[in-house]
Amino acid sequence: MERAVARIDFDAIRANCARLKAELGKDSELCAVVKADGYGHGADACAGAALAGGASWLAVATAVEAEAVGRRYRHVPLLTLGALTQEEVDIVLAASSELSVWHEGFREMLSARASAQGSSARVHVKYDSGMGRLGNPDPEHLLALARACDADPNLELAGVWTHFATADEPESAFFDEQLERFERVAAAVKQEFPSVLVHAANSAAVFRERRSHFDLARCGVAIYGLDPFQGDPRERGLAPALSLRSYVADVKRFAAGASAGYGQRWSAPQDTWVGVIPLGYGDGVRRALSNNGEVLVRGHRRPLVGTVSMDNITVDLGPETDVESGDEAVLIGSQGEDEIRAEEVARRLETINYEVTCAISARVPRRALAG
Ligand SMILES: *Cc1c(COP(=O)(O)O)cnc(C)c1O
Repeated sequence: MERAVARIDFDAIRANCARLKAELGKDSELCAVVKADGYGHGADACAGAALAGGASWLAVATAVEAEAVGRRYRHVPLLTLGALTQEEVDIVLAASSELSVWHEGFREMLSARASAQGSSARVHVKYDSGMGRLGNPDPEHLLALARACDADPNLELAGVWTHFATADEPESAFFDEQLERFERVAAAVKQEFPSVLVHAANSAAVFRERRSHFDLARCGVAIYGLDPFQGDPRERGLAPALSLRSYVADVKRFAAGASAGYGQRWSAPQDTWVGVIPLGYGDGVRRALSNNGEVLVRGHRRPLVGTVSMDNITVDLGPETDVESGDEAVLIGSQGEDEIRAEEVARRLETINYEVTCAISARVPRRALAG
């Protein structure tokens, strides 16, 4: 028994990638996005499982992530998605990662840094088709930038790409609008530079629209078996890879009216048993789950009662209980016949599954599911 542990099912990650690969068809490659420590699952081992499942590219957001992943998977094409300072550019180039470019000024700086390192940088020009975040929103500028990259001896034009704002909203017409804008820009770039990789799709887009697949799909959330639409991942053939487990450290009798936790936010409505589980918001169990969560113990849902502390939570076990100190407690994942999915926790917190798994802190060891 461990105080708190995230069990990662790498076979599930492998199978999820095979599932995505099948959805993509033979002409599109799968890029596994392992930013933010693999959405909290552990980037290093998840990247390995994703590659075993058919991914042929990796992507990260930051320079530090590129350094770690690039060192470990030296021969796998790696794309750093995010904005980078000059210092970060040096790190990313040393990691042999490909980079994103959307301004002429950044292209010049990048060219100079690549030249200084004696390397050439592979770049993906980014079009802002409507996300309104990173990327160049002007098709003419983007084409000019692609030409400048191609003409630069320190750079190699490798791709043209964009990112969707509403792929996970099935009713959104804006998705189609972005896709149409991007199709025009990508076609213009591809006509002049036929070898560029065209990419746009995230996980939701892969399931939503075949036309968005292009040469490469950048999938994050789905490779971890989290549903991009916040529904049931199994309905899309995805298997959740992460469970968050702890144990019951103490079981104590509460007389009616006795309170649990900071601020006395819960008192026993009747004589009852309360289980104390030694993890809390210091582990990423969000405080907003106070009096608003459930934990599986002995295969049954137990309401989380009182305030989530940094290191402890309490659950109501009821007036009669067979729960004992040392019993396993599951905050995310299955036990017996029941399962608490990250999507359910996200709904309680009015957020998305991405944030739930990313929030699991570094204090929680990530371990491979045994067997
Ligand atoms: C995070 C990210 C992705 C992956 O998105 P998912 O919804 O997790 O599949 C793809 N592209 C970009 C630019 C991203 O930042």
